[in-house]
Amino acid sequence: MSSGKVRTRFAPSPTGFMHVGNLRTAIYEYLVAKSQGGDFILRLEDTDRERLVEGAEAVIYKTLQTVGLSYDEGPDIGGPYGPYIQSQRLDMYLPYAKQLVEEGKAYYCFCTKERLEQLKESSGEGGGYDRHCRELPREEVERLLNAGTPYVIRQKMPLEGSTTFHDAVFGDITVENSELDDQILIKTDGYPTYNFANVIDDHTMHITHVVRGSEYLSSAPKYNLLYEAFGWEIPTYIHLPLIMGKNEDGSISKLSKRHGATSFEGLVQEGYLPEAVVNYIALLGWCPKDNREMFSLKELEENFSIDGISKSPSIFDYSKLEWFNGEYIRSKTLEEFTALAMPYYKEVMGDKELDWTILSSILQPRVTRLTQIPEMIRFFQELPEYDAGLFVNKKSKTTLENSGPVLQMVIDGLEGLSQWNREGIHDFLIGLAQEKELKNGTVMWPARIAASGMAVTPGGAVEILAILGRAEALRRLKLGLGKLQRR
Ligand code: GLU
Repeated sequence: MSSGKVRTRFAPSPTGFMHVGNLRTAIYEYLVAKSQGGDFILRLEDTDRERLVEGAEAVIYKTLQTVGLSYDEGPDIGGPYGPYIQSQRLDMYLPYAKQLVEEGKAYYCFCTKERLEQLKESSGEGGGYDRHCRELPREEVERLLNAGTPYVIRQKMPLEGSTTFHDAVFGDITVENSELDDQILIKTDGYPTYNFANVIDDHTMHITHVVRGSEYLSSAPKYNLLYEAFGWEIPTYIHLPLIMGKNEDGSISKLSKRHGATSFEGLVQEGYLPEAVVNYIALLGWCPKDNREMFSLKELEENFSIDGISKSPSIFDYSKLEWFNGEYIRSKTLEEFTALAMPYYKEVMGDKELDWTILSSILQPRVTRLTQIPEMIRFFQELPEYDAGLFVNKKSKTTLENSGPVLQMVIDGLEGLSQWNREGIHDFLIGLAQEKELKNGTVMWPARIAASGMAVTPGGAVEILAILGRAEALRRLKLGLGKLQRR
């Protein structure tokens, strides 16, 4: 578009959760602007009052803030082209529609609902409006207006020829004008239609690039004809590919709940980190030149370009997202990980205090979603019921016979340990193995089984004993010994 600054807008309708498709649109709008030193604007499209959902606006603000998509203009921060909430702009639209009427490019339509319904019935779906009021004599229009007859304002679509629009991703698309209805611009209640308000807002807010889902592709010719009617410059259109999910039988269909969480908050609830979600979603339809995968938002700004957007449908792959999430989890410092994990620790441990740092050090390399934590640590809260058979392990050379005496020595030694910490426990257990000429595993295995009651645990005997603390660790070791002796 014009020589001026790039300006993009995210224009969500507050109708519910932040779907991953919407979030991707927001990310791309942001990246299109920021990769070119432009401005990113937030506009709330709330004119479809029936679809509004309470609390949805708050979700939009919160999500953008959480993922770091800060906007340069918006409802809560203002800007030179406000208001940024469509319902506060209502009186701006009618004059533009009237301008088109004056110029002979739009007209008042007084057709009643009944007539329109009859029309639909007789012509079938897709028959469209028959343009009955398109050429009403001026005096007749005046008379009806003066009599207060309800009306809508419709645009006069060209009756012949075709309209071509260009999309940066999908290329040139042409439709026959005869297929286009004389679209309503202003409804009977004086409200603009969604399509009309969207164009007026984009123009008056000086938007240069419009990024939206490909479900809007079929509306683009109508938008173009509006821009042309006003003689306004058409923004660059960037329609994004559909987001699909993989079905159990291997086929794909539009991403929906049966594939998994489809909203940003749903994903966060399932233990994904916002930065992993942003990184993954940014690659859903955009491919960097060098096939690199890990990007912070800042790095995306530096690397993004519109020509990397693909038009083929992208598949939302939850296992790939989980891989990203694991990478992000591991890239945290121990303190950061502990802070992220703490709500999950508390969920299981309640008020009980453990050595969170050691706990985090064994979990961080293993966790790929934060929600896995409670299951992984439940044995710290309560020793599960377990069978003495767990003490038997071929590789560690442990048997039901030798495990008891080993546990006895472990208990005796640990009871006298002066400092209950990782190093102390480690040195004692390794020293014991050496002294008795046993494999390390022959000592570690029974100690870990008794401490955890589980065959597979995050971390080994040393860490688990250290985390449990002296009293609980010794209690469990003795319970294990009892199990072996009772046989
Ligand atoms: N308000 C529309 C939506 O939430 C946005 C369409 C557009 O970006 O033009 O889907």
